Amino acid sequence: MEKTIIKNAHVISPGIDLENATIVIEGKTIKSVGTKAASEKGATTVVDVKGQYVMPGFIDVHTHGALTYDFCDADPQAIFKFAEGKLEEGVTTFLPTTLTVSHEELETAARNLNAYADAGMPFAKAPGIHLEGPFINVKCCGAQNPSYVRKPDIKEVKAIARIYPVKQISYAVETEGGAKFAKECFKIGVVPSCGHTGAKLADLMPAYKNGLRHMTHFCNQMTPLHHREIGMVGAGFLIEDLNTEVICDKIHLCPDMLKLIFTRRNLAHVQMITDSLRCSHCKDGYAFTMGGLEVKLENGEARLVKGGNLAGSTLWMGNGLKNVHEVTGIPLKDLVRTTSWNQAIEQGWGDKLGKVEKGFTADLVVINPRSWKPSAVFVDGEQRK
Ligand SMILES: [Zn+2]
Repeated sequence: MEKTIIKNAHVISPGIDLENATIVIEGKTIKSVGTKAASEKGATTVVDVKGQYVMPGFIDVHTHGALTYDFCDADPQAIFKFAEGKLEEGVTTFLPTTLTVSHEELETAARNLNAYADAGMPFAKAPGIHLEGPFINVKCCGAQNPSYVRKPDIKEVKAIARIYPVKQISYAVETEGGAKFAKECFKIGVVPSCGHTGAKLADLMPAYKNGLRHMTHFCNQMTPLHHREIGMVGAGFLIEDLNTEVICDKIHLCPDMLKLIFTRRNLAHVQMITDSLRCSHCKDGYAFTMGGLEVKLENGEARLVKGGNLAGSTLWMGNGLKNVHEVTGIPLKDLVRTTSWNQAIEQGWGDKLGKVEKGFTADLVVINPRSWKPSAVFVDGEQRK
């Protein structure tokens, strides 16, 4: 069995901040983490990370593309390049996220992902799909194409899941059948999430009673907080156990809003996401279409050419973590649960993913504390970057 030793690590894991640490990995699993030097005898690989942070590999449950490729591209190579880009960012597990497009296009994306799985998922791991839409509120499309919006239909989800597992669905709870749909999602192992929604608090509660506990890109494309109707933003603050996705690029949410969320909400129910598009890793001026709509990247902001709506981000998870750490001053050992472990718990992987601890899968990212860029990434104990 392969034995890897990572030495001189500054381990940051939920509740743990340990300098001068040694991590021993056997096969896919972390065997030990501690400050005692481990014997290098019999080790296949020894990596000296020279005091850099070693964190749980990032888990991004909401991301559309990278390196000019989008998950919904018909091109079978797209998911490979996308996964390669995510790995480069330090993401070890992700849910490739679809756009509001036709059913045929969704099935094609699922087939392409299935082929990536058949090829052994050589970059970041993608255990399932996040369907963002098509069951959203046409008035809250953001950059989703309104002409493909339709009513919640579990049969459509089942058809896609027959090709590749669906793990999460972002939909508008207030649409016809929205509360029942949450229950139907759980029955087939899918996390239902309220998003692209015009719901009032009262519209959310029937779905909440049916188990819904997730909010898609909290604050973006949902009803704002008003003092006579607190909307979905108010719901996120009022209801502690709603797992709120947050895009931490300081563009989708201003720094004060990030501070409000991370200092007032229970961190066990906050999940950093990137919502990154094909233009992540690209330079300003890059133009593309998304679900049939034209988008241009300027000043690091991806916006619709028509109307100027934000279309998604170019964010990397490590930069999101840096932004929130700088804005709030919250210690990394407390914040780091929002980049991996919370996501793992909700998806049912909480005993294996999201911590740098004995018995967990060796999915690790080594972060340079000056640049906040990943300098090495381990997936299932194997160094892939
Ligand atoms: Zn999205």
